Amino acid sequence: MSTQMSKDVGCPNCGTAVRTEMWPGICAQEHPELRSHILDETFFDWTCPHCGYSAQFEYPCLYHDRERRFMIYLAPTGSGQEFKPVDVSEKFPQLAGVTKRVVASPAELKEKILIFESGLDDYAVELVKLGLSDVLEQKDGIKTLRAYFCGADESANRICFAFCQEGKNGFTLRKTSMDAYHKSLEITERFRGNDENLFVPVDSLTARDMLDEYFAEEA
Ligand SMILES: [Zn+2]
Repeated sequence: MSTQMSKDVGCPNCGTAVRTEMWPGICAQEHPELRSHILDETFFDWTCPHCGYSAQFEYPCLYHDRERRFMIYLAPTGSGQEFKPVDVSEKFPQLAGVTKRVVASPAELKEKILIFESGLDDYAVELVKLGLSDVLEQKDGIKTLRAYFCGADESANRICFAFCQEGKNGFTLRKTSMDAYHKSLEITERFRGNDENLFVPVDSLTARDMLDEYFAEEA
């Protein structure tokens, strides 16, 4: 179920208290327009009606897709790894079988939605992304700052990411084959933890841990 509230937010520019609509709970089926705003990156846009000052107004919220059975909790704090996994099996037994994630930014929330709507496994997608990022770093000697999943096409054997590299402006599109995804899925199935009842972050650090375990075993 979607939940809505409103709150007075002080404009950082002119100080006017602006009544601001917030959605602590977002249901994809109930409010498809909210999903669209997350995907077109306007969901957290905030403008002062008095002076026109605009900014991003980010707040914690829970995104729920009932049909595809996933929930993503956005806690805008910087890093999803700051969260200890939260066990919800006792309080919310109805969430068994629902994929549960914690993310730290609106960009990561959008990425998770795109991954799960594509029917992909996010552990495997993170592994592919990490592999691609390591290859780019070795080839160009440039570190990846951020990278996000953009889309996948099984028939064209293609999976795409947007990379933001150190010292470069904007994002560059990088793609690799879905074979890399399927290979990653095999690794994932061996090394992922049991997260059935947990809200967990799944990001590049998670992927690095799985890769370390994989290489330790292969060695
Ligand atoms: Zn203002």
